[in-house]
Amino acid sequence: MCDTYNKKNINLRQNASKRLFLKSAAASALGLGMSGITGRVAYAADVGAPPLPENVMTPDEALERLMAGNARYVAGQSTPLNFEDDRAALVIGQNPYASILSCSDSRVSPEFCFDEQRGDLFVARVAGNYLTTDFVATLEYAAAILHAPLIMVLGHESCGAVGAAIGAVDKNRQFPGHIQSMASALAPAVRAAKNMPGERFANVVKMNVIRNVEKLKKQPPVLSKLVANKKLLVVGGVYSLKTGRVDLVA
Ligand SMILES: [Zn+2]
Repeated sequence: MCDTYNKKNINLRQNASKRLFLKSAAASALGLGMSGITGRVAYAADVGAPPLPENVMTPDEALERLMAGNARYVAGQSTPLNFEDDRAALVIGQNPYASILSCSDSRVSPEFCFDEQRGDLFVARVAGNYLTTDFVATLEYAAAILHAPLIMVLGHESCGAVGAAIGAVDKNRQFPGHIQSMASALAPAVRAAKNMPGERFANVVKMNVIRNVEKLKKQPPVLSKLVANKKLLVVGGVYSLKTGRVDLVA
């Protein structure tokens, strides 16, 4: 078990060191600092080594790492949790490599399902994994200030919020308190999935993810610019409660 853990971390750190070296060499040749070559907002970690060097990567590398983590989780080969290794590094800051907009459902746990540790994922959770201004601000912070190059909107099988939205649209169901606002927020996805072939509930889960991915990609001024400059990748996934697998849907 320890061998697996050590091998993963040694490989990640070696790859990160290599990337940092190449970036630094290129930056020096161009007379630029690291923030100059990446086009990112300067922050404290640019001055020295980032807290987690293995988390410095491109958007495509981030997606590859995220999905590889899910494959380990599905296969029952998750890395044993170790709360001591990175504790000291994380005192000086954080540089998560991906943000996750996840449903709050207690059966979905982003750190577990992508086999990651503290400091790796910047997670925003709300029942129904839909966007509000506060969530846009949270994801902007992760992308522009913490430089996380990937956002995944993560829906899941049998989502209660989706069920509520379908009830509200199809049967005009009313929910107490503020729950109605959640159902209303997902209602456009219910209507958009109306003529999709296949199972209705799953279609709405997928459509809700797709709609929020598209909103994020077009969200001005921060996220849309990062996407246009290929500094940020926005994708959507659906988590299977049965298998633990995340399928990319957007
Ligand atoms: Zn849910």
